[in-house]
Amino acid sequence: MFNLILFGPPGSGKGTQSEKLIAKYGLKHLSTGDLLRSEIREQTPLGKEAQNFMDKGQLVPDEVVIGMISSALDNNPNAKGFLFDGFPRTAAQAEALDKLLELKEAPIAVMLALEVSEEELIKRLLKRGETSGRSDDTNESVIRARITEYHNKTAVVADYYKQFDKVEMVKGEGTIDEIFNRLCTEIDKRA
Ligand code: ADP
Repeated sequence: MFNLILFGPPGSGKGTQSEKLIAKYGLKHLSTGDLLRSEIREQTPLGKEAQNFMDKGQLVPDEVVIGMISSALDNNPNAKGFLFDGFPRTAAQAEALDKLLELKEAPIAVMLALEVSEEELIKRLLKRGETSGRSDDTNESVIRARITEYHNKTAVVADYYKQFDKVEMVKGEGTIDEIFNRLCTEIDKRA
């Protein structure tokens, strides 16, 4: 099993690159953002709770997303590996994920961390908001709140994996294919 985390601030290109990576490496894509948006579409109790946080650009409580990931792992017993996108986003989520993967004897192989300037992030998110139908991308103050959450709670997740020497920084600016090739080079070193 090959498990990897694609990491980076909102708008860093995780969703775009995830699609290409799962196709190339045959991994199962687990995006907590996508899972939460699907719960909201179906108006489940979990979705309704999550929406209050997401609309404000705040993180959804840890126990909610950890439960969701735990079920997703159980629902995919035959996966060749998982690509985690948008998860873990807090130190508590990282510790919970390590425990879940320990049970499967399949630790995280590598965290690929996309680096993009703040100015470029805001530009990309506002542009995505024109077509994505995501209300959290149309309002600049919600975008800034998400970037603040990233700095306050999520950036530390990279430090968590650095202690195990599992982090590779990847330049997240350039063409989609240039960035994809940089990511593949790092994966191929470790796979
Ligand atoms: P982006 O990376 O562009 O912010 P996502 O689709 O990953 O987009 O996440 C959208 C929103 O969903 C976040 O702002 C947050 O409210 C919520 N969310 C997604 N993943 C998590 C997570 N692991 N922990 C807490 N909240 C999350």
